[in-house]
Amino acid sequence: MLPIDPQRMLADLRALAEFGKMGSGVNRRSLTPEDLASRDWLLKRMRAAGLDARIDGIGSVAGRTPGSRKHILIGSHTDSVPKGGWLDGSMGVIFGLEIARAYVEAGLTDDPGVEVISFIDEEGRFAGLLGSAVFAGKMDEGDIRELRDERGESLESALQSAGYAGRELLRFEPDRHAAYLEAHIEQGPVLETAGKRIGLVTDIVGVSRCEVVFTGQADHAGTTPMELRRDAAAALYAFADDFARFCRNEGSDRTVWNLGLVRLEPGAYNVVTQQASLGVEYRDPSADVLDRIRRYIVDHAGRLAEEHRVSAEVVPGAGILPNPMDESVLGHLEQAAADLHASSIRMPSGAGHDATMLAHLVPTAMMFVPSIGGRSHDISEDTREEDIVLGLKVLARAVERIIAPS
Ligand SMILES: [Zn+2]
Repeated sequence: MLPIDPQRMLADLRALAEFGKMGSGVNRRSLTPEDLASRDWLLKRMRAAGLDARIDGIGSVAGRTPGSRKHILIGSHTDSVPKGGWLDGSMGVIFGLEIARAYVEAGLTDDPGVEVISFIDEEGRFAGLLGSAVFAGKMDEGDIRELRDERGESLESALQSAGYAGRELLRFEPDRHAAYLEAHIEQGPVLETAGKRIGLVTDIVGVSRCEVVFTGQADHAGTTPMELRRDAAAALYAFADDFARFCRNEGSDRTVWNLGLVRLEPGAYNVVTQQASLGVEYRDPSADVLDRIRRYIVDHAGRLAEEHRVSAEVVPGAGILPNPMDESVLGHLEQAAADLHASSIRMPSGAGHDATMLAHLVPTAMMFVPSIGGRSHDISEDTREEDIVLGLKVLARAVERIIAPS
């Protein structure tokens, strides 16, 4: 029913990878000159496909098939991390473009039609999942005005120089958007290890972050007796050790965590540490488990502070609630894979995706294709061409099933 053309899709995917090309990957952070050029290109490709398309006030690009009242939204992102891979995000957007193009070529005007979207800044130059958060109504113009990148450039000035500032924002429309589908590379080794070709995402895990700060007293590290020290670093090391043990024993079998940020002040061989802060990130599909870990962090930091004669503060950071995918849309993907005799497994997503922002608004589902060696967020990221093509076919088949249930 949908006359998709896998070779045309691959040609578009490769053309997109030319913007910010770096070796076998891309360096295309959102709103950089390379990214802006890729957005203009995408807009042109959407219009050439007969879609009603535009770039909005923060740089998200969307195009929809004309003539329909309701639309199935297919999307992802086309920005990359610094020195990222060519498929992360881009593949899902180009799948959407190909499916919308096929819909127009088939002369369809049924409900629902197809809308394709590239959400700006999923990778967080200014804020992770920025475009989908704005689309979902979780951020407004006031929030946008506050955002800066790590070098201090404001989002507002980047939007001004891009020429996007002041344009209307694309927003989720409950009367128009019937479902959200996102195809993405897995970015991990599960599919390859299991020898399966399609991953059916059951849920996107929640992510919690906080900063644990211990404050003691700087003293001479040679003359101050151990028992009199108020060593903030000692409290931090004990905390890091206990935290990992707690997560292993009391988390679920799906809990993962990372202690990837440490700051010690003043930070010297011969000075007892005055202040020690630890960035803590943990993920789990269950909100209860995340909450249990959060309570442990607060309680245990307090206990260790007392033990080490320092003070403790836990500063909450950004967080994303766990999001189960919609069973009926997931069922269409599962059946689509079966229709095409593609091996599939149900699996969670340990990475955040734009689908997270849509899941509570509209029936949402995601699918993965295998990543070679599980590599991603690196220029070495890749997927076998036959897996990319199969992914497109499964997604298109699922859209057909939603448009015309048989
Ligand atoms: Zn991505």
